[in-house]
Parts: sequence; structure tokens; C-alpha cells
Amino acid sequence: MLILMEQGATTEQIAKVCERVQEIGCTPHEIPGAIRTAIGITGNKGPLAPEAFHGLDGVAECVPVSKPYKLVSREVKPDATIVEVRGEKIGDGSMTVIAGPCSVESRDQIFRTAEAVAACGAKFLRGGAFKPRTSPYAFQGMKEEGLRLLEEVGREFDLRIVTEVKDTGTLDAVAEVADVLQIGARNMQNFSLLEAAGRLHKPILLKRGMSATLQELFMAAEYVLALRNYNVILCERGIRTFETMTRNTFDLSAVVMIKHHTHLPVIADPSHGVGIDWAVAPLAKAAIVAGADGVMVEVHPDPPNALSDGQQSLTFDGFKKLMGDLSDLATWQALHD
Ligand code: PEP
Ligand code: MN
Repeated sequence: MLILMEQGATTEQIAKVCERVQEIGCTPHEIPGAIRTAIGITGNKGPLAPEAFHGLDGVAECVPVSKPYKLVSREVKPDATIVEVRGEKIGDGSMTVIAGPCSVESRDQIFRTAEAVAACGAKFLRGGAFKPRTSPYAFQGMKEEGLRLLEEVGREFDLRIVTEVKDTGTLDAVAEVADVLQIGARNMQNFSLLEAAGRLHKPILLKRGMSATLQELFMAAEYVLALRNYNVILCERGIRTFETMTRNTFDLSAVVMIKHHTHLPVIADPSHGVGIDWAVAPLAKAAIVAGADGVMVEVHPDPPNALSDGQQSLTFDGFKKLMGDLSDLATWQALHD
């Protein structure tokens, strides 16, 4: 249920309603809006009786929420969520670019890449230290050493670090370095990880599972929001279909659907979405036109020799060209909005 407060309801009135929610054994979620505040309720076992809130000052209406995902839905919060990461806003209408290698491979590799992406204007550096690989024989990441390099390089180039947390065992170590915790496609429905990461109240980039419906993605995000961590960014990274010419099928409609049905920012990852270097830029641009709040792309100093995902990694020149195109696109969009 959602309690809509009257316009101009006082902080005391809002606090009283939150208290009542707690008294009945549920969790209140205060959702400030442009016009009025709403209070979302979670944790109820069955339908709630609106009478529980009758007589409380400042309450305008109690409305049932029809969707199974509650806190992530636009029904509950019509205004877009803006996630702030060390002064950089995601979801505020600006375009976020997260760039970097699939994996941190060496000091030289991550420093050169960070320098190149920062010089092109990126404010976020990606790079996995703990890598979830299909084969146990494939490079598994530099692990703790990779985290140390990310920490150092982020400081050196003033880049915010986006890195994957693969399991609860390494969560604390990863969270010490990550500005944004990436939860990968393979872990989208690892509910223990979602809860443990959610409790840290750090921004989370939640990637869509490779065969997850959008509703499943929203429900996974709901696990984090239910813990009162509202800093979730959703990421479309392609889904598995019958098509074999591309690594995955990049689902552009997901970008549009996520923006329509939820208030969370959406980042498109065309690198994993298509899996082919030359196809990344056109899809990155298409995602921005479709309404994505930004893109995440893999960039490597020497893609043919990358230890993971070289086939879909942009060279520094390729990334520079993409950044130029995205900036032209932003100017075009500002003129046509
Ligand atoms: C990655 O970002 O390198 C990655 C492993 O992504 P995904 O979880 O989408 O496969
Ligand atoms: Mn990758």
C-alpha cells in the first residue's frame, strides 16, 4: 500500500504515519515527491486495511499498489531517482559513461586505460577484479591485487570505480574500493548477495540476468530497495535468444520498458549485449536515443590480447570516436526535447 500525504504535510505528520506503519509490524519508506510525500509500505503478510491510517493528520489517501514490484515502480514514485556517486549524478538527465576493461589485468593496463577514458571525459572506470568466468580454466581476475590497483588508479585520475562483487565472501573487500557495486548477470537472482550488498547502502549497478524477464529484474532490485537502499541502477546487457550471430540479443526495448515502469536510472551495456567490437558504438548511441541514462562500454589498450572479452572491447581510438558521437547526440537531444 501507498499512503499519499497531503500537499504541505508536516515532518511530524509524516513521522507519525511512519510510526504507525512500524506499530503494525511493517517497514515505512518515505518517498519525497515534487508535489507531495508518499509513504510506501513493505513487509506486510497480506493486504493492509486502510483504516489503520484513518484519523492520522496529513493523510490524503491510501492506495493499493497493483504491481508485485512496489518500491521500484513508477506507480509508487513518479519522479525519476537520481543516484549520486561522489558528486556525479546518474539519472538526472545527463549522460553517464562507464568505461574500462572487462578485467583488471596489470598495473600498466589499468593505468593506461584509466588515463585514456578520463581524457575523453568519462567519470566512471569499470574493471573486474573478481571475475565470474564460464570456464574454471579461464582468467579469474587479479582479485585483491586488482582491487588495490583500482583504488590507486581511481584516486590518480579522479574516477569513480565500478567493479563486480561476485559473492558474499569478498563483499567487504570489494565494497571498500567500489564506488558502485556491480552485481552481474549471473548473480541477478542471488538473493543472499543482493541482501548483503543492499545492506551496505552503497550504489548498486544491477545487471539483468541473461534469461531474466524484466519483472524478475525489477523484483531483484526490490530486494535492495526493501532494505531502504534506494541507490540502484539497472543495467540492460543483452539476453540469450535463438540468435547466434551476436553474443547476446541486446534488448533495446528493455531500456524503454525500464524507464516507463520504474523510476530507477538505466545504463545500457552494448559490449556484453552484442559481443562484437564494431557493433558496440551504434548500439550505445541507439540506447541513449531510447532514453538510457548512460552506457557502460569495455575499453582495452590491446583488445586482441585481452584476458577477457577482447572481441567486444573498444580501442582507445574507438572509444574517443564514440565519446565524440555521444556528445553530438546530447547536443542534438537538448535541441529536440
Ligand atoms: C562484466 O561486466 O564484465 C560482466 C561479467 O558482465 P555480465 O554480468 O553482464 O555478464
Ligand atoms: Mn566483460
